Amino acid sequence: MRAKPVLLVDVDGVISLFGFAQEDRPDGAFHWVNGVLHYLSQGAGERLLRLQERYELVWATGWEETANEYLPPLLGLPGELPCLSFDVMPRFGSCHWKVAAIDAYAGPDQPLAWIDDNHDNGCHTWAAQRPGPTLLVTTKSPVGIDDTHVTQLITWAESLSLP
Ligand SMILES: [Mg+2]
Repeated sequence: MRAKPVLLVDVDGVISLFGFAQEDRPDGAFHWVNGVLHYLSQGAGERLLRLQERYELVWATGWEETANEYLPPLLGLPGELPCLSFDVMPRFGSCHWKVAAIDAYAGPDQPLAWIDDNHDNGCHTWAAQRPGPTLLVTTKSPVGIDDTHVTQLITWAESLSLP
């Protein structure tokens, strides 16, 4: 068992935002990543840094290793993060395809939280059936991770260490 709970971090819809109206663009900036223009949330890096004090952060994104190639310097993270890789094709509008890799990484008992914009019923069923403490935090893709999510995650991590 790791000293800290694991936090699985999705990128699209959590850090890279989409689906917002042009006249209602959140704070952030466009960056080219592998020839694709992504709009990175202004506050995401600072929020991940706060969460890193409480969690072992792990990329859980269809970006796979591309996340480490581009994101730590853009977000101000101190270094690369462990990164899940998937042997299945991402399926838009769902994230249950990530579950097998999460199980392989964390095992059944490791406390883990997972922030993603696409939790579906399959993910909630999986979380409810996991033996270890499990928290799903679902973002909205035009907004991504916000302070409410950070507070929820830190409160949950603190609750794990209570007697
Ligand atoms: Mg996503």
